[in-house]
Amino acid sequence: MLGYDESELRRMTPLDYNFQEDWERTRSILARLLDEEEQTGRIEKRYRRRNGEAVWWEASLFRVPATENSPAFVTMIIIDITERKRAEDSLRASEARWRSIFEHSVVGIGTTDRQRRYLSANPALQNMLGYSEEELRSLTLAHVTHPDDRDATVRRLDGVWEGRQASYHIEKRMIRKDGGVIWVNITAAPVAATESDPEFLPAIVVNITEQKKAEEALRVSRAELARVSRLTTMGELTASIAHEINQPLAAIVASGNACRRWLASDQANLDRARDSVDRIIKDAHRASEIIARIRSMTRKTPPAQLPVEINDVIADVLGFARGELLAKGVSVRLALLGDLPSIIGDRVQLQQVVLNLVINAVEAMAAIPDREPVLAITSQRADDGSLIVTVEDSGLGLDATNPERIFDAFFTTKPGGMGMGLSISTSIVEAHGGRLWASPGLPHGTAFHFTLPATSGAEAHSDKVALISAC
Ligand code: ADP
Repeated sequence: MLGYDESELRRMTPLDYNFQEDWERTRSILARLLDEEEQTGRIEKRYRRRNGEAVWWEASLFRVPATENSPAFVTMIIIDITERKRAEDSLRASEARWRSIFEHSVVGIGTTDRQRRYLSANPALQNMLGYSEEELRSLTLAHVTHPDDRDATVRRLDGVWEGRQASYHIEKRMIRKDGGVIWVNITAAPVAATESDPEFLPAIVVNITEQKKAEEALRVSRAELARVSRLTTMGELTASIAHEINQPLAAIVASGNACRRWLASDQANLDRARDSVDRIIKDAHRASEIIARIRSMTRKTPPAQLPVEINDVIADVLGFARGELLAKGVSVRLALLGDLPSIIGDRVQLQQVVLNLVINAVEAMAAIPDREPVLAITSQRADDGSLIVTVEDSGLGLDATNPERIFDAFFTTKPGGMGMGLSISTSIVEAHGGRLWASPGLPHGTAFHFTLPATSGAEAHSDKVALISAC
């Protein structure tokens, strides 16, 4: 092991093949054995081989007492532990590397146990939550999770601990020590127990509060834009709305005059007068419904999540646009499938989608004056059960150079266009879980189609509400 033969070794002392820094320890252990202070000793240290190489040995020493004809001596049993030491060193180096990643990482890293108690937290996570590692160790995940996200957290954690899912991923809110709320994105996968360590769950925690704020600001400004564009559309439609309201008003005046005549004669005809009053009431209701519809279009309200019949939405829009369609001589062909399931969503927003498509269609047809303007609207079911609405015109067709750009915000080919209609419509349809696209019309013009996932039965209905509110 040392590279010396016995005769050479007999001329040496142990200090000759020990490193100088270990001389003191070696001397003292030998002295204690020889002075009979101790019977045995154990030491782990390096030895120098004849060729200069260092080897790690674990030496067990024990004193053999003197007999009548031999003095006391020390016996050593030696095990070469160089390989073990090398493995330990590389383990230590690897641990140090991981420790430094843990300590210096800019993302939060924490570990928890099956009872959802914190075991460790790196400085980034401590910073994020405002607690020291010591404080976190006395807390569970429930303490630092926003009350609205606790159930989802527990459900998903149970999923990974019970082996139903390989990893855990969640976006949720956490509560800082100072009470502030932050949004985080967490990814974790459990580490199984070993002989020496129990199981634990290491998690990477990324603070996405700023991103969430930006998303919210974007959502608010989109909603605001949608409202503004709705108002613009409303401006364009004022004439047709005036026409709509004028109709019942004129009818009310006519019925009022008739009523007066039925009452004026000597033998008042009360039955006819009552009929006239009934007509007045009916027309007044119609006028107030039109006003309510207009008000709901301009009001600043968050999107609703209520059952909506898509055929009713189409009928509403045709009601709003009737004046415009009549004025432009557009013939409307409807093919609406009866008994379509309702969808969950915002009726006013969906009206806006259909209205945008109808207005675009009318404008595209106005550009081709010598072709009969035909607007075809169909509603049907797709193979997967979702609803498909198609709005097709006989207009000028899509600009072949930029067919996909029409969905981009502010892309317009119209002199006074804003270029927001299709972009907002896409956002609305996607927020409802659907898709909006265009295809060439047959034989001319353009067809716009959008899908909406259908709901059937109470269960699907409540799922969808949850889905949309999560969006
Ligand atoms: P805007 O109507 O203000 O231009 P949109 O986002 O609604 O904004 O439409 C963007 C562009 O898409 C239009 O300028 C037009 O070029 C094209 N487009 C939309 N609808 C049709 C259609 N029915 N036929 C032909 N082109 C259309």
